[in-house]
Amino acid sequence: MIYFDNASTTEINAEVLRTYVTVLETYFANPSGIHALAREVSRLQDKARQEILDTLNYKDAKVIFTSGATEANNLAIVGLYEQYKNRGNEIIISNYEHPSVREACRYLEKKHGVKLHDVPVKSDGKLDLDMLKDCINDKTVLISVMAVNNEIGSINDLGAIRTLLKNYPKVIFHSDVTQALGKIDTQLNAVDAFSFSAHKIHGLKGSGALILKRHLTPAPIMYGGAQEESLRPGTHNAPANIVLAKTVRLALTTQKENFKVVTKLANKLSALLQSRSDLFILNSTLENPYIVNFSLKTVKASVVLNALERKEIYVGTTSSCSAKIHEPSHSVLAISGDEERANNALRVSFSTGNTLEEVDTFFKTLINIIEGNYE
Ligand code: PMP
Repeated sequence: MIYFDNASTTEINAEVLRTYVTVLETYFANPSGIHALAREVSRLQDKARQEILDTLNYKDAKVIFTSGATEANNLAIVGLYEQYKNRGNEIIISNYEHPSVREACRYLEKKHGVKLHDVPVKSDGKLDLDMLKDCINDKTVLISVMAVNNEIGSINDLGAIRTLLKNYPKVIFHSDVTQALGKIDTQLNAVDAFSFSAHKIHGLKGSGALILKRHLTPAPIMYGGAQEESLRPGTHNAPANIVLAKTVRLALTTQKENFKVVTKLANKLSALLQSRSDLFILNSTLENPYIVNFSLKTVKASVVLNALERKEIYVGTTSSCSAKIHEPSHSVLAISGDEERANNALRVSFSTGNTLEEVDTFFKTLINIIEGNYE
């Protein structure tokens, strides 16, 4: 089996899993309880919050534990807008945000008549900063731009966006850093809030966080409990929250060496793909080695995907959240405006568990499929 779908989810880190099981067995009390065992769990959970902030070197901030980036993005977009809507009625996003940002904005469009600016990205996959600048005004409440795009892997310059905001101190800048954190250097200090998921960095499924500057108080989007500042009612998933600190720490401390390993894989795959420019067109640059996206020029991606699967090779096409039906890649469409290219895009996404031999096998198999050597 070759697993090249790490942008969708990653294998659990064995150390994270071990710690999780221990914590789950030992500290099973409800941290909202009033007895000593409950207080101990609550203490460990709060320690994990601080450890996450320290690891990320993110100051004057708080951690709201969530089920992952989807929930964190919803809470950021809807919660922050609802709370600060007296400041204006405009939101700015990029036109290739994850559906959890896009659809949350669409909801606000319908509910509050929000004016949504969908800023285009350039052919290199980066947000068009001139266009972004033109959208910022006194009515802007919120800007949300992803640090790394999940389909093509392009990196946005969060620091440059912050610079554009220097005359707009009240605008809240949020970033979905799900595909960036623990993989590439991420300019967290440029943003007021950010979202991520544990399972993209070898942590638990159903675990993640919205991290925001302490002064920000999003309105709740769920009701019925005081947990997480009343923003996430319901019994805490304390063991998952506690182990998130370790997940983030392991990802950050190994980031540099992992980057080197993955860079070798991406360089090799890109070189192979470029050697057959009659068959492939690259949609990614090598700036971020974790995601290599390319389009097939001569065959349909859906056909190749099925054939690869029969050989136990797993890659992605679009964001997993919309991949059940084969849809064109939203991000490839955004950089190219080419439906055919977007329809026939494949996404290879690496982790350090992958090898150069796997890249070789993948490429050979791919060529054989395209050339019709397999039924
Ligand atoms: N944002 C980005 C950029 C993602 O890649 C993903 C995962 N596809 C999410 C948000 C959603 O993460 P989750 O499904 O863990 O909530």
